[in-house]
Amino acid sequence: MKFYRFKDGIDKEIAIGKLVCLARTYRKHAEEMKTFTTKEPLIFLKPASSVIFNNQSIIIPNLSKCLHHEVELGVVIGKKCKNISREKALNYVLGYCITLDITARDIQSEAKKKGWPWSIAKGFDTFAPISDVVIKKEISDPNNLDIILKVNNKVRQKSNSKFMVYSIERIIEFISNIMTLEPGDLIMTGTPEGVNEIKKGDVLKANLGKICSLKVDVR
Ligand code: MG
Repeated sequence: MKFYRFKDGIDKEIAIGKLVCLARTYRKHAEEMKTFTTKEPLIFLKPASSVIFNNQSIIIPNLSKCLHHEVELGVVIGKKCKNISREKALNYVLGYCITLDITARDIQSEAKKKGWPWSIAKGFDTFAPISDVVIKKEISDPNNLDIILKVNNKVRQKSNSKFMVYSIERIIEFISNIMTLEPGDLIMTGTPEGVNEIKKGDVLKANLGKICSLKVDVR
């Protein structure tokens, strides 16, 4: 079991639960993947065992020859919720973080062709680096947060959560109508455009505005 780390030394012990991830939530990313956004959100799950933290390393698995970075806003659930309306959704949020949805793109492309699940492409150990969590009250509007990823100090992805095709409230409403969200669950809200390959030795630095940051390397 892994536990969240909080910014500013907040002393809470909250285990990391399921990681509910969204796909195609930014129009320009859908376009670069030669696909389109959908009316209803597309979701998949990553295992909690894939989480790593600041200053740790993404390990390239033997089964893949092509890893991609996807920088994403993370939403940490603070209270159990089921069938929540979008009006009440943010009451159930504990805080936010910056995350990386590391993807074995070669395995995912093959799975897409065959109509197979993405669990292998998305589920390797170390494939979900997450920053320290910032408590909700520190963030006035989660639907307007800058999201930046630099690889080896060069900007690879730069966007803002306002460009998501669904609001955070809508995402929580949608997921909680399918599965109960529990304290410690993490929603990874999907990546903006600019996804690209990472290689051994690369250093990734992701930021959620000036609010929180994450640094990991690739081994
Ligand atoms: Mg993603």
